[in-house]
Amino acid sequence: MQIIINGKTYAANPGEKILDVARRNGIEIPTLCHSEALPGLASCRLCMVEVHENGRTQYVASCTYPVADGMEVFTNSEMIAARRKILLALYNLIAPDSARIKGLLARYHVEPFDRLEADPDSKCILCGLCVKACEELGTNAISTLNRGTKKKIGTAFNEPAADCIGCGSCAIICPTQAIEMTEAEGNRTIWEKTFELLRCRDCGEYFTTPESLEHVRKKLGETVGNIEELQLCNYCKTKRAATRLKDGLHLDEYLDSDK
Ligand code: SF4
Repeated sequence: MQIIINGKTYAANPGEKILDVARRNGIEIPTLCHSEALPGLASCRLCMVEVHENGRTQYVASCTYPVADGMEVFTNSEMIAARRKILLALYNLIAPDSARIKGLLARYHVEPFDRLEADPDSKCILCGLCVKACEELGTNAISTLNRGTKKKIGTAFNEPAADCIGCGSCAIICPTQAIEMTEAEGNRTIWEKTFELLRCRDCGEYFTTPESLEHVRKKLGETVGNIEELQLCNYCKTKRAATRLKDGLHLDEYLDSDK
């Protein structure tokens, strides 16, 4: 299958989204709520593109719109560029300290709104990526609360969530760094709940909470393989895997050896 983006033809696979094909081919489409690990949220609408298909013109979210043979896509038409500028100026009002939004303003030559004042304490653009991350983990500790102008992301009754395991995924994935997560003296505080941190068995750096480790262990269940592997930070896990591959020991053999 082939699609045309900005006048050039590209190969595409059935089921792929326009954003996938564009990014694979180095075509820039800005996003805030898109994550490779958790695609398909389509809430920030920054990835809107103009699509000409079956004689119709549509403006669609490229992260969720599937490709079709012969489809013509414009990522920077006059209408798209104008809508993108308005959206970015609005997001800049909502999250005035966000480095990512500041970068996008500069990249797309957006002038901030001068007649509207940003709330300096506001950080969250309500994209919902954090909620999706927490849902995917199966913890469901945060959700969208309230409606209209009072809408926000938080824990039930604004109280420290019993289900939160302190993994930090919500804070790490947030595009505007709206979720506060602090670490000091072997403790991590997030959503007003403080967790002890565990040290990596290899390098000794703090890396996760006992609750997160237990959650992963339970999820993996029988397939957990090498339990020691879970007690390593990502850096040391990768280092060990690379060493094993270098030494000619296949990862599956290594995991089987510890069962
Ligand atoms: S830190 Fe808590 S709220 Fe955030 S993703 Fe992990 S479990 Fe969910």
